[in-house]
Amino acid sequence: MEIFKGQNLLEFSDRFKTDRDCIEYLSNIKWEDGYKCRKCGHTGFQVRKNLSRTCNICSDTESPMANTLFHKNKFGLRKAFFICFEMSSTTKGLSARQTAVRYGVTERTARMFMHKVREAMASSENFPMDGDVDVDEFVVGGKETGKQGRSYDSKKKKVVCALERTKEGKVKRFYAHKINDFSAKSLRTIFTKHIDTKAKVTTDEWKGYRPISREYNIKQIPSNNGMNFQALHTIIHQVKSWLRTTYSWVSEKHINRYFNEFCYRINRSQSKDTIFNNLITRMVKQEKISQKQIICS
Ligand SMILES: [Zn+2]
Repeated sequence: MEIFKGQNLLEFSDRFKTDRDCIEYLSNIKWEDGYKCRKCGHTGFQVRKNLSRTCNICSDTESPMANTLFHKNKFGLRKAFFICFEMSSTTKGLSARQTAVRYGVTERTARMFMHKVREAMASSENFPMDGDVDVDEFVVGGKETGKQGRSYDSKKKKVVCALERTKEGKVKRFYAHKINDFSAKSLRTIFTKHIDTKAKVTTDEWKGYRPISREYNIKQIPSNNGMNFQALHTIIHQVKSWLRTTYSWVSEKHINRYFNEFCYRINRSQSKDTIFNNLITRMVKQEKISQKQIICS
């Protein structure tokens, strides 16, 4: 199968004219390494009209959507593909309300599906950053004071983030994670998930980083109102204004999902051509998740 490449909406809509085109695309991804029955492990099968596969031994029938993040999708695969295309290829993504209007689904349905997409966008955490990495914290929500840095306002969501710089000082990769407070224990989250012990880390002079420097190579320098962390502060500004303008309000329990989305796009800005295929592949390879799991987790 030829994968879909590019960001052109007309080409996209030509390629995916019907739900059937999308099911075919999914089945190619799902069984790219061959079919194996999920019940008995047999590899012989018949293809049904709807592209489901039936095992020759135990007759178990599996659809291309089964157990993927498209599992029990109620509004048609083509719409789902278009939403994935927009969420991966546009720079800003869109709100559930806009999605609902554009695709004729309810806002709740749009929101639930978009959260599933954000699950697929989450980092695998398998490739920690090992170069020059800046780490800082910021807050989201509540009253904006214009001041950067740590705030203890309980209404604000606290976030720790890390940016790996290229040799030229540009953004190579960026990750952000909600934390409960600015203690060493909480700040460590971003190190454990995304930073290699070989990385050369720079932070401001906050004492919370000191205990972590026993295991990580951390240099602490004055922030100088963010001037010493320019690339990082630019991106912090971007993520905050993105949340504010696109979503106006995000709940505490979902905020990491929004960071997944933001970081997924930023970290793939050099591979936009194949980003849609990457996202669909992740949707297929990731285990299904129920609405209940989304609401409660
Ligand atoms: Zn079987």
